[in-house]
Amino acid sequence: MTSIVVLGSTNMDLVAFVPRAPGRGETVTGREFRTIPGGKGANQAVAAARAGAEVAMIGAVGTDDFGVRLRAALDGAGVDTDLLRTAEGASGTAHIVVDDEGGNAIVVVPGANGTVTSLTHGDEALIGTADTLLLQLEIPLPVVTAGAVTARRLGVRTVLTPAPARPLPAELLAATDLLVPNEHEATALTGIADPYEAAAALLRDVPEVVITLGAAGCLHAARGGEPFTVPAPRVRTVDTTAAGDTFAGALAVALGEGRPVREALAWASTAAALSVQREGASSSMPYRSEIDAAHGSLTTGQEV
Ligand code: AMP
Repeated sequence: MTSIVVLGSTNMDLVAFVPRAPGRGETVTGREFRTIPGGKGANQAVAAARAGAEVAMIGAVGTDDFGVRLRAALDGAGVDTDLLRTAEGASGTAHIVVDDEGGNAIVVVPGANGTVTSLTHGDEALIGTADTLLLQLEIPLPVVTAGAVTARRLGVRTVLTPAPARPLPAELLAATDLLVPNEHEATALTGIADPYEAAAALLRDVPEVVITLGAAGCLHAARGGEPFTVPAPRVRTVDTTAAGDTFAGALAVALGEGRPVREALAWASTAAALSVQREGASSSMPYRSEIDAAHGSLTTGQEV
């Protein structure tokens, strides 16, 4: 079993389903409200655990009721939360308005995530036990950088999802083994719209890049190799929330198990394709047995 540590965010997603989003000063009546445990860090942790890794999470929840639920959701997924702090005050929240056309508008309030500003000796020791450290950008950049630098020093592979997109410090890039942006993030980081050209530009800073391309699959590029794309399985899309986190979590598992990169990308694509056929974030993430079963049928050309 490969072991993964996630250093990242936990958020409670507060989702209002409305016919259309309100304008400034306007009130609209929604159809439904749901609270769903999320946050990119926690989502990737759950995705990796379901995909078959031993996973531990470093981050923080608040002292509010959401904090209790966020921790319980991770515990329930089998993620080790011993080093998940409880910080005085509110948990991270994402206030999401989803309209009838499936469009959304989101306000994220970091809450407890903002208190994760440094690593303890215990955190560093935990990172040292892992095969892979998974990182995103929903906690303060200095601690993301510290995590990557620590992992690099201890010989642990670092996989960074640069979301939400923002300029990355050279020190963080220098300690990143694999960067996994989506198309928009790749463009935001490089100023280049074409994914092949964006990948080439990113390879100046990191040795390996996977740009996810939604329904078009993903593009892999590594120094010294030819870039190639892996198509996504053709599926009926219900909800693409957390498709990228499912992909990143499953990819980290497959690579951590030492599978060849093309095979790992195809397997992660299958996991993400399963997730887009179901509603929600962690609720949509497939278990290893489901990924394996669908992956088998994919190689025979069937839809999953
Ligand atoms: P994205 O963050 O939209 O680039 O999606 C991440 C990954 O999820 C992609 O690389 C695909 O593997 C998968 N994915 C996203 N949307 C779809 C879709 N409509 N159909 C199949 N796979 C998808």
